Amino acid sequence: MTIRTRFAPSPTGYLHVGGARTALFSWLYARKHGGQFILRIEDTDLERSTAESVNAILEGMTWLGLEYDEGPFYQTHRFDRYKEVIDQLLKQGDAYYCYCSKEELEDMRELQRANKEKPRYDGRCRDLSAVREGVQPVIRFKNPTEGSVVVNDVIRGEVEFKNSELDDLIIARPDGSPTYNLTVVVDDLDMELTHVIRGDDHLNNSPRQINIIKALGAEPPVFAHVPMILGDDGARLSKRHGAVSVMSYRDEGYLPEALLNYLVRLGWSHGDQEIFTLDEMIQLFDIEDVNKAASSFNTDKLLWLNQQYIKNSEPEHVAHHLSWHMGQLGIDPAQGPELSSVVKLQQERAKTLVEMAANSRFFYQAVTDYDEKAARKNLTVNSVELLQDMQARLSALQEWQAEEIHDHIKACAEAAEVGMGKVAQPIRVAITGNTVSPPLDVTLELLGRERTLSAVTAAIEWIKDHAEDQS
Ligand code: GLU
Repeated sequence: MTIRTRFAPSPTGYLHVGGARTALFSWLYARKHGGQFILRIEDTDLERSTAESVNAILEGMTWLGLEYDEGPFYQTHRFDRYKEVIDQLLKQGDAYYCYCSKEELEDMRELQRANKEKPRYDGRCRDLSAVREGVQPVIRFKNPTEGSVVVNDVIRGEVEFKNSELDDLIIARPDGSPTYNLTVVVDDLDMELTHVIRGDDHLNNSPRQINIIKALGAEPPVFAHVPMILGDDGARLSKRHGAVSVMSYRDEGYLPEALLNYLVRLGWSHGDQEIFTLDEMIQLFDIEDVNKAASSFNTDKLLWLNQQYIKNSEPEHVAHHLSWHMGQLGIDPAQGPELSSVVKLQQERAKTLVEMAANSRFFYQAVTDYDEKAARKNLTVNSVELLQDMQARLSALQEWQAEEIHDHIKACAEAAEVGMGKVAQPIRVAITGNTVSPPLDVTLELLGRERTLSAVTAAIEWIKDHAEDQS
C-alpha cells in the first residue's frame, strides 16, 4: 500500500504555525514511507476564503520547503463531484431533504433544553415524503441511530462515539452547496488518502465522517489527531502570544529549517536529541510517537535553534535567505562582497537573519550616521592621528589581506604606544558606524581597500567638523 497523506487548510488567513506543524507531520510521514503528500485547499466557504490567503498558504509551504506531490486541489473546482455523491446518498436512502425552518429548529432546541436534553436535530424530516412548496430544503445525512463509531486514532487510541449523540448533519445547504464533512469525505476517498493527520479540533468530526464513508461503502483512512499548541500561559496559541504566522518567522529572521526543527519537536521527541536534519526527521519521525498532550510554544528555544542553524549551515545556504533580508533593507547584495563571504564572518554571532542583515549593511553601503555613543567615545580629536597613521599604512599595504592588515594595526598601536583596541575601535566605528563587527582584519579584507580608506577619510572629516562640539 502506498501511503498518501494530505494537508487541507481552509484559506481564511495566513499559514498558522499549528497548521504548519500538521503539514510537517503529514509530509514527514509520507516521505518516510516513500508515499505521496497532497495539498488540498478547502475553499468552499466562499465568504471567508480569499485568494490572498491561498497565496499566503502556498508561500508558507514553499518557504518551509514542504513540497507536495499532488495539488493544490481546490474544493471549489469539485462541486459537480460533491453533487454526484450527495445524489447517490439521496438515492440509496442515506440522505434526505429537510424543510425545517429556522424557527422550527429553534423551537425544537428550546424544548430540548427545557427537558434537559442535549440540543440536536431530532430527525423529524427523515421519513417525510411531502415536499413543502416555496421552501428550499437542506439535505441531511441519515446518521445511524444505534450502536457506536470507534475512531481508531494512532495518537489517542480508540475513541468511541455513540451514534445517539450524533444527529443528522447537513451535507448540502439550501443552495445545494456541500458542507465541510461531506467534501472532506469525498476528497479523502477520491484522493485515496490512507492517513488523515490533522488538528484535534477535528476529532469530533471523525465519527460523522466515518459514518458517511461507510454509507458510501468505503473503508475509513487511518486517523491521527494532533494535539494543539499552547502559548506560554497555557491558552491556545494565538496572535496574543506573538507571531503565529509562518511568514512572520521569515520576517523576523528565522531559517525555515530552524522553524521545522522546532515544530517537529513540539509533541514529538527522539531521546534527548534537539537538532535534526531533514533526513533525520524523515528517518526517525513516526506519527505514532506523537504525544497525546498539548505542547507549549517556547520562543526562546526557537531562537536558540535558529542560532544553531545559522552557525552550522553552509554559508551559501544562509546567504540565500539573508539576501531577502538585505533587500528588505534596500540593499542590493550585488553592490559589495559576495554575500556568502559576509555570512562566514557573521554566522558565529547572529541569532537572527534580521540582526545579521543590519550588522552587514556596511559591507554594501557607506556609513552615513555614527552611533552617538560610539562616536563620542571613539571618534575624538585624539583619534585623528591614529586614523591618519592607519590610513597611510593601509594605503601602502601591498597585499590587501587579513594577516597584513593585522600586522599594520599592531604596528600602528606600537608606534603610538597604545593597545590594539585603541586603534581598532575608531576604525571599527569609521567603517560600521558602531562598535560591533567581526574581527577587524578579516572584516577590512572583505570590505576592500577602497571602501575602507574612504570610510576612514570620512571619519576624519567628521571629527574635524565636530571638533568644536567635542571641545
Ligand atoms: N480545512 C480544515 C481546516 O483548515 C481541515 C480539514 C481536515 O484536515 O480534515 O481546519
